[in-house]
Amino acid sequence: MLIMDIRETSSKQLIAFLQQHNERSFRAKQLQDWLWKKNVTSFEEMINIPKNLQETLKESFSFLQTEICKEVVSFDKTTKFLFRLFDNEQIEGVLIPSHNRVTACISSQVGCPLKCTFCATGTLGLKRQLHFWEIIDQYVLMNRRAEKLFGISISNIVFMGMGEPLMNYDNVFKAINIMTAPDGNGISPSRITLSTVGIPEKIRKLADDGFKANLALSLHTADNDKRTLLIPANQIYTLEELTKALQYYVEKTNQRITIEYLLLNNINDSLEDAKKLCLFCKVFPVKINIIEYNATETQFQSSTPEKKAAFTAYLETKNLIVNVRQSRGKDIAAACGQLVAKTVLR
Ligand code: SAH
Repeated sequence: MLIMDIRETSSKQLIAFLQQHNERSFRAKQLQDWLWKKNVTSFEEMINIPKNLQETLKESFSFLQTEICKEVVSFDKTTKFLFRLFDNEQIEGVLIPSHNRVTACISSQVGCPLKCTFCATGTLGLKRQLHFWEIIDQYVLMNRRAEKLFGISISNIVFMGMGEPLMNYDNVFKAINIMTAPDGNGISPSRITLSTVGIPEKIRKLADDGFKANLALSLHTADNDKRTLLIPANQIYTLEELTKALQYYVEKTNQRITIEYLLLNNINDSLEDAKKLCLFCKVFPVKINIIEYNATETQFQSSTPEKKAAFTAYLETKNLIVNVRQSRGKDIAAACGQLVAKTVLR
């Protein structure tokens, strides 16, 4: 029989377990503090839990481990981590330092089912979903490294690693809830961004569930046919459906949406493309992030600096908020899925 991981237990289950073993129920709160606030990785570290109870817990629950198995540092200090999960599957995370902040990019699935044609993770397919505690493990392990490497804790978290967060909705939602809870890691939801390819029914669900973090949409083109070529899932979740869901989301949450736009040479970087993007952005408040393509083994290339400048300038004439994001960690293959793709597929 498989034993349950200690982090899968609810308060109720923990209290019942403690009662069964003639232990006081206040131990449940102590245990949860160790798990979600102090983020220990073993029962032995729970020093206010008596040794015999530590032993009983050890016999009754598993405490599955996530480990950093590889760390690669870029000339710009961006640091990429390869994690080994309890079942030997691998995922990636990245720490991106800038001025006085460090952003952690984390994964939501092992691999990804979407097969976006420009993305390295797409080549892997979906291996399995991540448990919510494996999502938190990435944050905890990288936070320790951030403090060592840069002298500061992680300030922002983006779900832009491997996987589609809205296809692992429950685990991602639960992980964000714990990371933002006052009796968890206490991170402000405004410092967390969930990036999605755009699944209309799940975007509505986020709004209905009272999602408080930021939402980013990987749009990459506002032309429906072109988008299907880049993102095959667009065939099912069309731009029209997506627009309606985003309108619903904005009305309900009052939040601005971040539009991610990867500029690909001669694919989506003409003035015509910029015009289409403006039209798409007309119906709700947005902020546009222009992303530089991190070259992978695909047919795509980054736009030229001239085209990028013209594209951005056009958007600015339409009074849109535009940020141009420089590619980070180019030399260490820091884009989504590249490290695992290299390690696993070699
Ligand atoms: N599935 C989610 C989150 C993971 S991908 C989503 O689609 O948003 C995170 C972001 O990285 C997406 O905007 C994705 O389009 C982008 N991306 C993927 N490969 C990239 C590459 N080689 N260079 C730059 N950005 C890339």
